[in-house]
Amino acid sequence: MATQLAADARRRIELSGRSFTRPHSTRVITVANQKGGVGKTTTTVNLAAALAQAGLNVLVIDNDPQGNASTALGIEHHGGTPSVYEVLVEDEDLAAVVQQSSRIPRLWCAPATIDLSGAEIELVSLVARENRLRTAVETYLAHREATGMDRLDYVLIDCPPSLGLLTVNAFVAAREVLIPIQCEYYALEGLSQLLKNVELIKNHLNPGLHVSSILLTMYDARTNLAHQVAAEVREHFPAQTLRTTVPRSVRISEAPSYGQTVMTYDPGSSGALAYLAAARELADRGAPARLTPEES
Ligand code: ADP
Ligand code: MG
Repeated sequence: MATQLAADARRRIELSGRSFTRPHSTRVITVANQKGGVGKTTTTVNLAAALAQAGLNVLVIDNDPQGNASTALGIEHHGGTPSVYEVLVEDEDLAAVVQQSSRIPRLWCAPATIDLSGAEIELVSLVARENRLRTAVETYLAHREATGMDRLDYVLIDCPPSLGLLTVNAFVAAREVLIPIQCEYYALEGLSQLLKNVELIKNHLNPGLHVSSILLTMYDARTNLAHQVAAEVREHFPAQTLRTTVPRSVRISEAPSYGQTVMTYDPGSSGALAYLAAARELADRGAPARLTPEES
């Protein structure tokens, strides 16, 4: 307990008031893991909030029919709200569905409604079914530029717990994949399937795609198991795994029921500080310069 408090205090001093590096171009990052409950949504919204609080312009695309990211960001998403469903299935512009956060300036969200649960099936029969989100994001970035809005620094896409067409769209729309891994038994199960899918998308649909970051979540420093899982992940993915681990924290899990991220709900808590540190690491690493032949 005392060590945790001391570490938090150090981190608070280290991180407070610092602004983050602005990337050279918009970084589009898909947060994916086909397992449910590993911290995808929590990671998406808290990293987004931390980046926006540090002065960057951030868009969250809620690409999960459950709409948890929209809830956590306090964004309207009852049935009938213009949402990612209309964008993917009805060719609506992202600009028409994006809402601005009332709590955190510079943070926007394209919400998900329950309608999105039908999209997985409806997409099958549409043309360019894998490219629809990518086209929407590109159009939106161009629209912001044309209308003199601030350039987005980050687009974070929250995925459903499956590898279906919604996740495929997110992989095609992004350059980077961030994988949250829960520090528990079975953590690595399914990871090879996920990496295989990223590889398939890279080979067939999106040559620039790569796993840029892995974040260890729900880390309980008191258990040997958490240490073991973390050590194993770092051994396999030394370059990708962020140094910061996110602790298991009641404040993190409480925040969504107040329509908030932990970054505003309890900014001094160890969970918020961990997400702030992770966001800083992500920003400091910048977009890894890996151009595909067509782009260079
Ligand atoms: P996913 O989006 O992968 O399904 P979530 O982000 O929704 O996972 O997290 C699953 C559950 O675990 C949620 O109830 C969330 O509030 C909780 N949770 C996530 N991260 C933490 C954490 N670091 N400490 C405590 N609870 C957490
Ligand atoms: Mg989720």
